[in-house]
Amino acid sequence: MKVGTISFFGRELPIIWDIDCVVVGGGTGGAATAIAALDEGIQTLVIEKTISLGGTQTNALVSPMMPTFVKGQRVNQLIIERLHKEQIDTFDGTTACSWFNVETLSYVLEQLIIERGGHLLYDANYVDCLKEGKQITHIIVNTCNGLVAIKGKTFVDATADAVLSRTAAVPVESGNQDGQNQQISFRFEMGGIDIAALREFILSRNEKFCQIKNPMFFEIVMVPGNGHVLESFFQKGLLNGDLEEEDLRYFQAFTQPGKPTVMSFNCPHIPDIYQTTDPVLRSEAVSKGRMMIRRLSNFLTNYIPGFKHAYLLKEATQLGIRESYRIIGQYVLSETDYVNRARFNDGIARGDWYIDVHSVSEEKVEKARFSRGEYYEIPYRSLITHEVNNLIIVGRHVSSTFLMQASLRIQPTIRDMAQAAGLACAYSITHNVDLNKIDGAFLKQQLVEMGE
Ligand SMILES: Cc1cc2nc3c(=O)[nH]c(=O)nc-3n(C[C@H](O)[C@H](O)[C@H](O)COP(=O)(O)OP(=O)(O)OC[C@H]3O[C@@H](n4cnc5c(N)ncnc54)[C@H](O)[C@@H]3O)c2cc1C
Repeated sequence: MKVGTISFFGRELPIIWDIDCVVVGGGTGGAATAIAALDEGIQTLVIEKTISLGGTQTNALVSPMMPTFVKGQRVNQLIIERLHKEQIDTFDGTTACSWFNVETLSYVLEQLIIERGGHLLYDANYVDCLKEGKQITHIIVNTCNGLVAIKGKTFVDATADAVLSRTAAVPVESGNQDGQNQQISFRFEMGGIDIAALREFILSRNEKFCQIKNPMFFEIVMVPGNGHVLESFFQKGLLNGDLEEEDLRYFQAFTQPGKPTVMSFNCPHIPDIYQTTDPVLRSEAVSKGRMMIRRLSNFLTNYIPGFKHAYLLKEATQLGIRESYRIIGQYVLSETDYVNRARFNDGIARGDWYIDVHSVSEEKVEKARFSRGEYYEIPYRSLITHEVNNLIIVGRHVSSTFLMQASLRIQPTIRDMAQAAGLACAYSITHNVDLNKIDGAFLKQQLVEMGE
């Protein structure tokens, strides 16, 4: 399909789409925004650089969806219901986490978009945008057929790294007061584990970590000095030269619904790399992490009962980046708003997760967790900018401080923002009003009427 051409640095590029809403990035936030926008009846296209939806959830192997007691959250509920239809038991019987496996989740997200008539452009890397004044007119994407252009009316930056916003000249910030970003992880999965034997071995030694009674579920952890059963085995591995000191920083793994012999590992934490915006350091983190994964998986098969016939099944295809750039939008949500359980006239999403900061330097963190039912609101102004009229931002890179980002970045909260962003894009199209001129209080009211 070609709807014209456009000049880009002296080259004529084909325009392959002209569409209401262009979502750049098909991760948690992007996929949910597309679903919400499609439900409002506008034509929507998702541009994704990999070939699966879910982003950090699926490609970085990050599960589970953290608990939230915020009511509503229609898109979240929709996704969970569809996981159930695919025979995925999301509920462990004890915690309020929602479990999934990555293959089913990316399939479910894709189906939810296709069924609504949405379009997907995979293997397509956003490169740049063209603007007329404060309006983005086209984006430039690198595909298997080289550079192409896409024309749109509204644009969603769901890249998690503010890629679209930065090229559109939206100001950003990154890291803490020392310019350091949060800890990077590189997650992996192992298969062929005898979970029953592992459970028997761990529980017979009085490990108290796994509180979940569901026999279909199990989790293990090792944090040095916390008295975990696995610690002496890790120390032995270290003594024998099979592990290195950095492998003992943090170790955690849990089972995955629908994959009976598989565990997913919430580790290793990559040591000594605290800049997630530096492409060279990100690459070093990959190589470093891959070596650590090899050591850990070999160690487990050789030292831990239940792992004798286990094997490294999968490494994440994306690093576990907790935080990189954050846009500076019309309102910067802060830890003061967290403490105050802030309410806003344009509060279009809600968060209740604590400030879960994986920082490398000491932070003065507000440690208090919310009681069930308490929440803070995220104002619409944190998703829009002064610089670009037809752009909205959804994901871990919305306008917030370093510490506040550590609360709002969890998956259900991002999807809550996405619900509002999809609605805003539709409103912008149908009422011909710029995204950054929409009355956020009106949007909030619309969401309330929708049961959000
Ligand atoms: C190690 C780790 C553990 C975590 N643990 C949990 C947890 O247990 N529970 C929980 O709820 N949350 C957890 N989180 C937080 C949560 O998973 C993330 O914050 C959230 O998934 C991010 O969603 P997002 O939509 O902002 O970004 P992503 O899901 O990363 O989506 C960004 C998408 O944009 C695409 N993209 C980027 N650049 C381009 C481009 N130029 N062109 C095209 N596409 C592009 C990417 O491929 C990706 O698909 C964790 C995060 C990490 C890193």
